[in-house]
Amino acid sequence: MSNEKKESIIKTAIQIKNVNKSFQQGGTTFPVLNDISFEIVEKKLVTLMGPSGSGKSTLLNLLSAIESADSGQINVFGNQLIGATEKNLTIYRRKTIGIVFQFFHLFPYLSAIENVSLPLYLSGTTKKIAESKAKEVLSLVGLDHRKEFTPKEMSGGEKQRVSIARAIVHQPKLVLADEPTGNLDSHSSEMIMQLFSRCVKDLGISVFLVTHNEQIGQSGDINLRMLDGKIKSK
Ligand code: ADP
Ligand code: MG
Repeated sequence: MSNEKKESIIKTAIQIKNVNKSFQQGGTTFPVLNDISFEIVEKKLVTLMGPSGSGKSTLLNLLSAIESADSGQINVFGNQLIGATEKNLTIYRRKTIGIVFQFFHLFPYLSAIENVSLPLYLSGTTKKIAESKAKEVLSLVGLDHRKEFTPKEMSGGEKQRVSIARAIVHQPKLVLADEPTGNLDSHSSEMIMQLFSRCVKDLGISVFLVTHNEQIGQSGDINLRMLDGKIKSK
């Protein structure tokens, strides 16, 4: 196959064009994202670093369709997020993306398997199928022995592995992670980064993660920096 043909079948994961976002407070407008444009092809591990308050979480929230931009275009695997109906955004959140948080956001009284099955039940999958898929991904993240445990019976690293299992159980195209190792020791952080790397290499998922850790911030296939409301590639 010619190089030209090979290139033409590589899909774009994220395309952001001239995106602006500001917040209003006490009658004053605070610009956060300032005319951001960038493009990421699929199946890459992307890291984003930047000072606190520089707008990293805001950008992730736009990609998660939790918040909307003031202007510009955001396209994720063919889904145009700006101007989309609430119904289409709900389908997008359920099918196209998975989210991992710094503080896990697991249900404390549910077991690992129940936490991971939940997004599938909510999309109408039967309990039996949801639990069988949850078991599969928990095994994939190395937690066969913790399936019946609740979050308070697990370490931080194990909880984050449950969160990753929950984020990938519906086979999303993109996982968005906001400081996923921010609350973990260095050994657990390393395991979590290896898992993200496997998500990309073995499962073909694109991963976009925000980090404060300089080493992690240089370990992606693509490493971005947020500064003064702009994105720079390192
Ligand atoms: P980071 O994740 O890089 O630390 P954030 O995206 O959380 O930064 O925040 C960027 C800026 O936007 C900060 O100044 C923050 O106070 C402000 N901000 C974020 N969310 C809101 C909001 N919902 N309302 C008002 N200001 C906000
Ligand atoms: Mg943040």
